[in-house]
Amino acid sequence: MLSLCMELRKDPITRSWVITGDDVPESAPRPEPFCRFCPDSREPPQLIASVSGMPGAPWSARAVVHPTALYHIEGEATRRGDGIYDRMRPIGAHEVLVENAAHDRHLWSASDLEIEQFLLLAAQRIQDLKGDGRFKYVGIYKDHGNSAGQEFEHPTSQLTATTFVPRRVLYELRAAREYFQSKERCVFCDIISQEMKQDLRVIELRGDFIALCPYAPRVPYESWIVPRTHEAAFERFGLNRPGTMRDLGALLRRTLQRIRTITEGFHLVLHTSPNSLHRSGNLGYWKTIDEDYHWHIEIMPILALKAKSYTFKEVYYSPLTSETAVKRLRDARIEL
Ligand SMILES: [Zn+2]
Ligand SMILES: [Zn+2]
Ligand SMILES: [Zn+2]
Repeated sequence: MLSLCMELRKDPITRSWVITGDDVPESAPRPEPFCRFCPDSREPPQLIASVSGMPGAPWSARAVVHPTALYHIEGEATRRGDGIYDRMRPIGAHEVLVENAAHDRHLWSASDLEIEQFLLLAAQRIQDLKGDGRFKYVGIYKDHGNSAGQEFEHPTSQLTATTFVPRRVLYELRAAREYFQSKERCVFCDIISQEMKQDLRVIELRGDFIALCPYAPRVPYESWIVPRTHEAAFERFGLNRPGTMRDLGALLRRTLQRIRTITEGFHLVLHTSPNSLHRSGNLGYWKTIDEDYHWHIEIMPILALKAKSYTFKEVYYSPLTSETAVKRLRDARIEL
């Protein structure tokens, strides 16, 4: 098994965890002659959960175990010291969320109803895994295009449940807590209200959601989708107000269509609050999390720009302002 030799190590300076080991294959996996995620697959992956809702389809979205999972569900993480260092076993969950039964219906080409079913499945999977006290964070991401490291041809996203909070989320949580401590307001709510007022970087509004280009983009055309009503947890929002997932699905579809008029490859990540079962833990950011954090989706398009030197990579370099990016995204010709 690939991952038995993998382990998690903590960087003592940034306090972020990395997964490392010597078993990573040197070459890319060979393309398979059949699709394992299609309904008629000869080697179906292990099923975890499924939602139906589309007439005529065997299922509309489903969660399966990742065929080469980085994290495994059995056992305890058993954090160990190694001199000044910390390490632990990669306990967690690694699932593939199959977005659609059809091999060619993507988040930008599926119907709003199909995307809604996928979003509801995502919410259910996060809520279910948050019931496991070992997991501190459950996140969902999608890499599309060769440049993004796309793994499967079939329309899929991936979910990981981890015994630690990933670095970017940890930075956001700390920053959101500090902002809340000084202003008693949610920084995301403040961003939304300023963006609505200025209307310089808003791509589109849909129902309770806003799509915008962030003020300080990490890459050209970086786009966020954020609920306009304050809520820290995506899964609570999605499952308590299921009708809203149709609007989110439509806005996600339209935003991806806009981005695809510029480039094919992108990374997408859903950021939601960490597992509140750990609220009583030693980290203070759990205390006001429902007030200070605000779930959102980040999309980082991949442009075939000239590779920048290392000095540039130390600081995000985006040779296009969000004010210019938003004009092109707003004006992009997309389907309805
Ligand atoms: Zn397929
Ligand atoms: Zn908020
Ligand atoms: Zn984020």
